[in-house]
Amino acid sequence: MDRKELEARWAKIKSWKAKGKRAPHKPLLLLYALGAWQQGQTQLQYAKEEAKLKDYFREFSKSPSGPKPHYPFVFLLNDKVWELSSIEGIDKSKGSSSKRLRDLGISAQFPAEMQALLREQPDLIGHLAEQLLQRNFPESLHSSILQAVGLELAPAFLLSKRRKRDPRFRGQILEAYGYSCAVCGFNLRLGHQPLALEAAHIKWHQAGGPDRAENGLALCSMHHKLFDLGAFRIDDSLRLQVSHKVHGEGLDYYLLRHQAQQIRLPHLKKYRPKEDYLNWHLEEVFQGYSRD
Ligand SMILES: [Zn+2]
Repeated sequence: MDRKELEARWAKIKSWKAKGKRAPHKPLLLLYALGAWQQGQTQLQYAKEEAKLKDYFREFSKSPSGPKPHYPFVFLLNDKVWELSSIEGIDKSKGSSSKRLRDLGISAQFPAEMQALLREQPDLIGHLAEQLLQRNFPESLHSSILQAVGLELAPAFLLSKRRKRDPRFRGQILEAYGYSCAVCGFNLRLGHQPLALEAAHIKWHQAGGPDRAENGLALCSMHHKLFDLGAFRIDDSLRLQVSHKVHGEGLDYYLLRHQAQQIRLPHLKKYRPKEDYLNWHLEEVFQGYSRD
């Protein structure tokens, strides 16, 4: 196996289902494994990693019935990017329970050829991680995910590979919302330059969300990240709904004081967020349910 074949194999890993439905668990687990590899850990023992994996999945994916890292732990076998210490008693098509993985003391590792490539070409880690991030997660979450898995990439990676996005999107969105956060009105400037203000996609670009004003919101960095992590949503009447799952210092300041309030609307009616996109965000990103 050479580098090209390996990258092609990784590119085939399915992380989206029909109609933009998310299935982010394989990419999340692979990023986790790359982080561990970079820190010198060549094997992941399920029993040892389970609790950490659950926290990590909870943060970056929507798991209404609880995070289930045991599924991708087994299913990655079928993508041939992953090996288990034993497959005896493991069901490759239906998956095996977390108890079984623990009881059998199962661990996982990259196949030997891949390990050899990773040793020979240390920049490969960056390419693979970058590929997974770009295909599966909005940019607002990339640095948080990398930090969560302890993966350090050369800064050039994240800057040079920015996907080709319609450059007008950002300008159009910021202008439509009067260069202010649609949630809190934040509009700090340095001279004339807006600071920490971003154009957010409601339906992620990775899920096929278009670069159109009706799929965008101007949000400050904080609200952008909270929105992409599913801490709040915007309902059909364009009111903010905070997830019941969020708590802690800052909850009132950043979220609850805006609860059930209508967002600041764009100057043109045709630019208002469209229901289809808001529904996608509700189904695929928003965590838990709205507060009363
Ligand atoms: Zn804001």
